[in-house]
Amino acid sequence: MRPSLRLGNVAGIPVGIHWSALLVIALIMAVLGTGVLPAAVPGLSQGLYWGVAAVVACAFFASLLAHELAHALVARRLGVRVGSITLWLMGGITELDGEARTPRAEAEISAAGPLTSLAFAAVAGLVLLVPHSPLLISSAVAWFALVNAVLGLFNLLPGAPLDGGRVLHAFLWWRYRDRSRADRTAAQAGQSLGMFLVAAGVLQAVVWSPVGGLWMVLIGWFMTGAARAEAFARSARSGLTGLRMRDVMTSVPDLAPSWLKVDAFVATVALRSRQSVFPVVDFSGAPVGAVSLETISALTPEQRAETNVAQLARKLPSDHVVAPDDPAARILDLSVEPAVLVVENGHVTGLVTPADFTRILMQASLRSPPRDDAP
Ligand SMILES: [Zn+2]
Repeated sequence: MRPSLRLGNVAGIPVGIHWSALLVIALIMAVLGTGVLPAAVPGLSQGLYWGVAAVVACAFFASLLAHELAHALVARRLGVRVGSITLWLMGGITELDGEARTPRAEAEISAAGPLTSLAFAAVAGLVLLVPHSPLLISSAVAWFALVNAVLGLFNLLPGAPLDGGRVLHAFLWWRYRDRSRADRTAAQAGQSLGMFLVAAGVLQAVVWSPVGGLWMVLIGWFMTGAARAEAFARSARSGLTGLRMRDVMTSVPDLAPSWLKVDAFVATVALRSRQSVFPVVDFSGAPVGAVSLETISALTPEQRAETNVAQLARKLPSDHVVAPDDPAARILDLSVEPAVLVVENGHVTGLVTPADFTRILMQASLRSPPRDDAP
């Protein structure tokens, strides 16, 4: 998930927000400003309802961020590097570079988030005990407490990608002393839970609330897919253990010289090659980007005669240029679009395209050994 807007760093961790999170803020404000608050305390001004709704929506987002920060800070304390935090439609994502080394560490990292949400709910619950507080404020605080309690409890459901799914995985890993077996059982639990939510959502949509039911179907559907994807990623990661980029890349790929006209490149290289993406190199052989057949085929023959390959080259982010001895598992953390270049001594020696990526994942899942790596 790439954030649409970077909010800055919190405790040295980059925090971003995806545009879909704004939908959630708008939805929360609408629900509070036109439904919950006017129903609880009728007869006040619209401006007051909306103002309180905006404050509560911001407080909710801060609590969501605290949930993710709890995961991130515990992970960092336990030696797992933290990439970034992104808030989006379904809550937050904390990207970790690597995995917990022990079942206990995995359990602590995973449980930290929901426990933080439940702590927010508990503190808000205590605020409600203050006597003589205005009804509008206590309604808003009660809603905040309820939503954080639901968030904490829902995330403890035992299905990946929910935190509870990871707690379950940690428990199974500790119990079986076999990480691969824990991967499979936790993934099955996640898929079953997702399917159960889909079924419950359909039932709810039919007999009670269509909107609420469809929302639950959506979440269940998302969870089923995510559980499958996570199981696949885990088996791929274990199948790539010990391999280097040079073991999985396409070696000595056909190159696209930046100074050639596109039609000359098509005639001399592209039509004879088995690649659909080409590293673009300058006179010295250094990589300057990548170009795909798709980009080239969008040009008219006249444009192909006039355009240099350099003008079509897509610049690659710095993490898309890797060394032959880098761990192969690094590509799991990248979006391979349009390509990852393997460079040695300033020259392109290998290439990983999206098509290669699919092959590498399939091979890795075939290679993935059942193993016992619990401490
Ligand atoms: Zn969480």
